[in-house]
Amino acid sequence: MTDIIQLLPDHVANQIAAGEVVQRPASVVKELLENAIDAGSTSIQLLIKNAGKTLIQVADNGKGMSLTDARLSFERHATSKIKLAEDLFQLQTKGFRGEALASIAAIAQVDLKTKQEEEEVGTHIQIKGSEVESQEACVTPKGTVIHVKNLFYNIPARRNFLKSTSVETRHIIDEFQRVALAHPSIAFSMHHNGSEMFQLPVSNPRQRIVNIFGSKTNEKLVPVEEDTEMVKVTGFVGKPEFAKRTRGEQFFFVNDRYIKSPYLNHAVTAAFEGLLKDKAHPSYFLYLQVDPKSIDINIHPTKTEIKFDDEHALYAILRSAIKHSLGQFSVAPVLDFNRDSNLDTPYEFQQKQAETPKVEVDRDFNPFKEVSTRTSSGSSVGFQSRRQSAPQESWEALYTGLNDQNDEKDFSKVEFESDVVTGQLFDSSAVATSSTTFQLQKKYIISPFKNGMILIDQHRAHCRILYEDLLKSITVKAAVSQQLLFPLSLQLNAQETQMLQYLRESLEQTGFIFSKMEEEEIEITGIPTLIPESEVSILLDQLLSDFENEIPESGFLQTDLLAKSLAKSMAIKAGTHLDTVEQIAIVNGLFACKEPQLTPSNKKIFITLQAEDIEKKFM
Ligand code: ADP
Ligand code: MG
Repeated sequence: MTDIIQLLPDHVANQIAAGEVVQRPASVVKELLENAIDAGSTSIQLLIKNAGKTLIQVADNGKGMSLTDARLSFERHATSKIKLAEDLFQLQTKGFRGEALASIAAIAQVDLKTKQEEEEVGTHIQIKGSEVESQEACVTPKGTVIHVKNLFYNIPARRNFLKSTSVETRHIIDEFQRVALAHPSIAFSMHHNGSEMFQLPVSNPRQRIVNIFGSKTNEKLVPVEEDTEMVKVTGFVGKPEFAKRTRGEQFFFVNDRYIKSPYLNHAVTAAFEGLLKDKAHPSYFLYLQVDPKSIDINIHPTKTEIKFDDEHALYAILRSAIKHSLGQFSVAPVLDFNRDSNLDTPYEFQQKQAETPKVEVDRDFNPFKEVSTRTSSGSSVGFQSRRQSAPQESWEALYTGLNDQNDEKDFSKVEFESDVVTGQLFDSSAVATSSTTFQLQKKYIISPFKNGMILIDQHRAHCRILYEDLLKSITVKAAVSQQLLFPLSLQLNAQETQMLQYLRESLEQTGFIFSKMEEEEIEITGIPTLIPESEVSILLDQLLSDFENEIPESGFLQTDLLAKSLAKSMAIKAGTHLDTVEQIAIVNGLFACKEPQLTPSNKKIFITLQAEDIEKKFM
């Protein structure tokens, strides 16, 4: 029996490997540019002839190579960038496989001149089809200049498969742009057939984008910034109105390396949800910095695909960061619902100074004093029910609530005033003038925004606002209560009283004060400032029925249910007239919420009508 296995000669192995690394001239451009960057260059020039089929030349001012290294660099698996397999997880460089130069030299005529700073003379190597033809000393500036001529000269099949000059040039430009965008702090230039295509000075990311894509790009960019433990996101997205029909300017860079990621692309598109015309693609230039340990870039030979440890978290972070950025230049519908909006400033107030919250207490208040006029002030959404702010009423009026407990008329006279709990963070005159709103059918609030209009269900919106306020009061701080002059006593059955016992602590956090809670009687001496006294018994009834005779085990669920129920009862109803200040208070209050889109019971709070939807109606 004869042995048939033999080792492939190096130049054949190199040619085969070259098939993986070098698909077309653009692949050579990418590898050479990356080598120049890894060499610490601050200025890199690319020159091509005939779409790179005739010549690809890259000149850099990087650290250059020693005489031996210059020779070794063309060996397969010759790299200065990793020593151990583990180093792959600490990669700070573009290259690491040590295959590019060997592959390129196997399928082209390569001419390399290189010199290290401290050397007097440099080295000049000529290689053709993996064969070193000459190596000699030469005079050359610090850095490396590499010429790659007649690509695929020895593999006619590959050469014939190359596409037209314009297609191959397009590929090269794509690679050039990706590398240049990833490294704004390096100067780049590109010439094709003697004419300058790009001249990119050292700059910041924004200028780099503008230098590549034209000065009109500048106004289209919306900055994106997010810094989390897992990833730092910077960069820009294009404003929705400039989105393109074709997927054009979409760039992800992870640790300064261009990558393709359909998954992350989806996250971006999701952030643009509702803002783009059909089939339009947003542009984006997003730079992600992650711990090299958390990614695997080794899964694809040309290294444009990447595996992240926690893709899902990345998706969420990216989407929310972009939504937030879009929200800052547009309005409502693109607000970021995943973000802690407690930390955000409503748009109208970004330039304003916040005032210290004031607790208004009328020290001269005397319930037995007669005063004839009444005023109300402030912007927060609350009911006119605090005694202190109605000093003008005669003291008898304090009891009107008791008489018309179920009187709808009284309910429709809902008024808004400053809320003692949170105070007036922003001055109300600004609210009133910052935008225009209308009330429709005493049920909806209409507010225009840049791209159309928004239609808000007033009851649902108020529900959401109160719900979040209540949750805060219950979990974070005790709310202020209004003392009742005469205790309110309610007759309940034993089971109901027992349920209130369970909820007592939470209820007290919202401002209730119970002086008695036993058997079939409870006595209330204080109530939350947002509730009119006349509403208390209805509200507690509603609360008990919402709990459906069952108190959830978990404290959280209990609090949540309580807040939901109270919010629903307390919220202004449909049919209530709202004046402009009240409307605006609702709108602003809503969009200061963490989740302005849905009521606590997951019902839609507002709908938007985009300008184009309106236009369609007129067609
Ligand atoms: P890799 O980049 O994966 O290490 P390459 O085949 O691209 O493999 O390059 C081999 C080695 O040659 C590099 O590790 C580097 O040390 C050296 N080298 C290549 N290009 C340059 C350059 N422009 N300047 C300095 N050194 C270079
Ligand atoms: Mg390389």
